[in-house]
Amino acid sequence: MKRPTTKEPTISNINEIINTLKESNRFHEIETGVERKYIIETYGCQMNEHDSEKLEGFLTQMGYNKTDSRESSDLIIFNTCCVRENAELKVYGKLGALKHLKKKHEDLIIAVCGCMMQQDHVVKYIQKTYPHVDLIFGTHNLHNFPYLLEKTLNHKEAIVDVWSQEGEIIEGLPVNRRYGIKSFVNIMYGCNNFCSYCIVPYTRGRERSREVKDVLEEIEDLVSNGSKEVMLLGQNVNSYGNTLVNDVDFSDLLEQVVKIPGIERIRFMTSHPKDLSDKLIDTMATHKKICNHIHLPLQAGSNKVLKEMNRKYTQEDYLTIVRKIREKIPGVAITTDIIIGFPNETQEDFEETLTIARLAEFDSAFTFLYSIREGTPAATKIGQVPEEDKKTRFQTLKKLIDQIAYENNQKYLDQEISVLVEGTSKKNDKILTGRTETSKTVNFPGDEKIIGEIVTVKITAAKTYSFDGIIV
Ligand code: SF4
Repeated sequence: MKRPTTKEPTISNINEIINTLKESNRFHEIETGVERKYIIETYGCQMNEHDSEKLEGFLTQMGYNKTDSRESSDLIIFNTCCVRENAELKVYGKLGALKHLKKKHEDLIIAVCGCMMQQDHVVKYIQKTYPHVDLIFGTHNLHNFPYLLEKTLNHKEAIVDVWSQEGEIIEGLPVNRRYGIKSFVNIMYGCNNFCSYCIVPYTRGRERSREVKDVLEEIEDLVSNGSKEVMLLGQNVNSYGNTLVNDVDFSDLLEQVVKIPGIERIRFMTSHPKDLSDKLIDTMATHKKICNHIHLPLQAGSNKVLKEMNRKYTQEDYLTIVRKIREKIPGVAITTDIIIGFPNETQEDFEETLTIARLAEFDSAFTFLYSIREGTPAATKIGQVPEEDKKTRFQTLKKLIDQIAYENNQKYLDQEISVLVEGTSKKNDKILTGRTETSKTVNFPGDEKIIGEIVTVKITAAKTYSFDGIIV
């Protein structure tokens, strides 16, 4: 699908549209006594979470109120992810279930956006199978959402507006931050790596970095509004700066971010092993504010599979990086992603993954069963691994990762560590919950008044993926 032929709205037009919809929602509330509400259901990674924050920012400005209930919503948005088949199937199931709601509430607007919509076959399938969907848009024209919503509200027919190509980075969009103390900040968009299993370069477009000054201004604003921690986001933060005119890389950006007064913790995600430089490791080791946690996707331990995945590193390269990180950053936590059952992965290949997991001593791992993503090179490979074998390997790997994580955590017992208090425990509101610099969860008794503070907690119990402790 091409860019729309209609005149593309400018930022000032968008502001006009936002004000018009705000007025309309205000009148609706005066006339009916009921406010207009929305719900956004988000799938996938932090990028998508952050995109949903941007949609929420627009909706708040337009006078919509957030609800947790689809039944009471005037606008339902699914922000989708196409990285794994499971997330796609969930969206289809939920779209089907909305048919009856649309019958009861004919003014209800159902919108679908995100990575799934960047695929032509998905859009066609949704149009054919779920005619009650009113608006479909993609990842590249999120900034036009108010314009698209207004068009949808004023037209009887469904609107489909998906750009096949990324445009320039649009700065200054409103964002509804979900976390007061912790915030996501995009530093770049898209990816140039074309790992053979991954759909992201096709749905999020080619890599584009934001200007340093735009990133710094956003963080300064967040800190002045109470953020203590920022998570810098990019599909591959290690290649930050490649598209900028100025000679600047990710380490240079971090050097600037640490200088922002009031910032306490800096995290980032994701790092591609092939681009992780010694300079970055040194920068992390130098600055206390850069958290000593690194997420470094391994994906597979066998060199044969890594080559077929087009990852451009070997198991030896990976272990060399892990060794350097551990040498230079004492106490660092290393987490990873692993795909199980990539086409032609043999039991021997899988056992190499187990070996690398043991040697790397991962603190945790997101493990996924390989699923075919239409449009990627791996989708047409012969030698797909039977589901049963994938599931067996998954259980074996999970058991090993759990065991390593548990063993790693025992070294924290009786230690006093700094924890950013994030809120109360879901299970018990008398218990506070927070995170260590290594991104491990700690639960401890305490007063809600200290939410947002960094406190010292003595670890009294070390479990597989969390700690119990007491404030000291
Ligand atoms: S680095 Fe590979 S896995 Fe990550 S987003 Fe890019 S193509 Fe996908």
